[in-house]
Amino acid sequence: MAKLKDYYAILEVSKDATQEQIKAAYRQLAKEYHPDINRDYEDFFKEINEAYNVLNDKERRKEYDSLLINPDESKIRNFTEYIQEFINSIFNGDKDQKPRKGEDIRIKLLLSIEEAYLGASKEIEYEKWVPCPDCNAKGYAGAEPDKVKCEACDGTGKRVSGIFSFPRPCSVCKGRGYIIKNLCSTCLGRKRIAKKSKLRIEVPPFTNDDDILKVPGKGHYGFGNKEPGDLYLRVSIAPHEVYKKVGNDIYVELSISYPTAVLGGNIKFRWIDGKDMDIFIQPGAECNSQKVMPGLGFNGGNAIFNLKIQIPKSLSKRQQKLIEELKKLEEENQDSIFSIVKKFF
Ligand SMILES: [Zn+2]
Ligand SMILES: [Zn+2]
Repeated sequence: MAKLKDYYAILEVSKDATQEQIKAAYRQLAKEYHPDINRDYEDFFKEINEAYNVLNDKERRKEYDSLLINPDESKIRNFTEYIQEFINSIFNGDKDQKPRKGEDIRIKLLLSIEEAYLGASKEIEYEKWVPCPDCNAKGYAGAEPDKVKCEACDGTGKRVSGIFSFPRPCSVCKGRGYIIKNLCSTCLGRKRIAKKSKLRIEVPPFTNDDDILKVPGKGHYGFGNKEPGDLYLRVSIAPHEVYKKVGNDIYVELSISYPTAVLGGNIKFRWIDGKDMDIFIQPGAECNSQKVMPGLGFNGGNAIFNLKIQIPKSLSKRQQKLIEELKKLEEENQDSIFSIVKKFF
């Protein structure tokens, strides 16, 4: 079971805290638990940042709040994965800035059944790392980095700390042995910033649930002129009121009138592709019987129509009269059957 972290408790604020209160709480905690000051709290420092990155962003906070009220498991899993990936990319991006390819991004793509069936050209918006525009992805302001020796590791870049008896990369200078004094104030030396980006994508026809669409080069920006990562979109088709998708088949409840059920006939029905088609109903069709039209589903699947016979709730005078006549006929039929049975005995 996916579980949500209590970000409000981590930041020690109430659930109705204002953005200012959240900011202030974060600043205070980040100061207290910064790895530069106390390296034993590295993990907690990460938690504080995770909580802040969710609660300080209006949209993310809204989604988080709605998940607290409505804990839908798959939504929680998606949300948690997304936040983890985001936080990891902040922290790893900080530690390792050697030239390397950007990370891949994996997000969900919600399609209507029409978009999935017919294909679509769609604009999506997602967050990714882009080169910092204020330092041209150098990480420092000015022409040259202003380097000073890291005091924490005495310039070695390694340090024995906590429960580990072997040296680990120094968390203060990220293993570099020096600290850059003129860090870019926009990206804080990360060389990249997170930015909402728009992208137009082409969805091919018969795109199915859980299909993965790969968009090369549209993931996170890399370091040192290395190529960006790729974007992976995992497809999820939204439920539809009329067309119910089960695997590759499409189920539809089709209402037919009582006379059509008895006499048979053609019914016009608009399919997912927007085209009207004729559905032939056999005379004497029964309620809940199925009419299968092969090949109209996804990837050669079927269209399956569940026939529902409509019983009219209100009748015009003429309809009333005709049905009463029909009833009388049926009763006469019954009587004649009874008389045959009587004769037989
Ligand atoms: Zn150091
Ligand atoms: Zn910058």
